[in-house]
Amino acid sequence: MARTEPVQLSERVYYLPGGVNCALVVGEGGRAVVVDSGQDKDYGRNLRRACEALGVVPGAIINTHAHADHFGGNAYLLRQFPDLEVLAPPFEASIIRAPYLEPVYLFHGARPIAELTSKWLQAEPSPVHTEIGAGSIERCGVRFEVLDTSGHAHRQLALKVDDVLLAADSFFGDAVLDRYTLPFGQDIGNQLAAFETVRASGVRVAVPGHGDPSEDLERSAGANVSAVQAAADAVAGACTGGGSEDVLANACQALAVDITDLPRYHLNLCTVSAYLSYLRDQGRVRASLDAGRLRWHAA
Ligand SMILES: [Zn+2]
Repeated sequence: MARTEPVQLSERVYYLPGGVNCALVVGEGGRAVVVDSGQDKDYGRNLRRACEALGVVPGAIINTHAHADHFGGNAYLLRQFPDLEVLAPPFEASIIRAPYLEPVYLFHGARPIAELTSKWLQAEPSPVHTEIGAGSIERCGVRFEVLDTSGHAHRQLALKVDDVLLAADSFFGDAVLDRYTLPFGQDIGNQLAAFETVRASGVRVAVPGHGDPSEDLERSAGANVSAVQAAADAVAGACTGGGSEDVLANACQALAVDITDLPRYHLNLCTVSAYLSYLRDQGRVRASLDAGRLRWHAA
């Protein structure tokens, strides 16, 4: 990634704009908390330089969830600062420690094809020293309110500090929603609830993991709800008796999603599976088995 300068959001909260937004919260004693470390060592280096520019040393990394693009910089930062404490939600922590699990789950639990093991989907492993859930924590003299925003990832969290929400993938920025009409999600019911948590967080500004910060959470949360509801309707409409891959193809056609590579195919199949699970719980679709073939129907 190109080097980016930290953008100040409040007296002590900064974020580094990029393909993945990372954040730095300046604490006491010349130390700072890193929130998400980005895709790889380039992101890690960028965070180290930002710390140097601000005259601080990272004391802790909080990973909001275990998608490779949010914790891939951990390993670099740990090599530079071996005393760093890494914090992450349970379940996600297991994947951060064993990142091969991400391509494995994207390939139905089997040994994944090589295309799924690039650094985009499989980061360098990192220890997680402390597992955290909803509540309040203090690191480097900074108090964080930890919000459970599970849904995009199974145990996604967001961090409220001062009047800023470091939301990571709890919601997406406008440009991301415009580009990805089938936004990635692993638990759609929880994802919809998470948008309400973001909306009700009462902050002045919220930074998504991808896209620009929002100062209008009413509108941003609403846009995310609309996108997920549109995707749910498209997947429901795509259930005309075919298998999961037929549903994926039909839904992508309805949503104008063009899949041109194997990683994106598997990410979209995972998301469609999350929608099928959600819609089945809602009683909107049903599954049947026919001569060894799973078929999805409108209920
Ligand atoms: Zn993510």
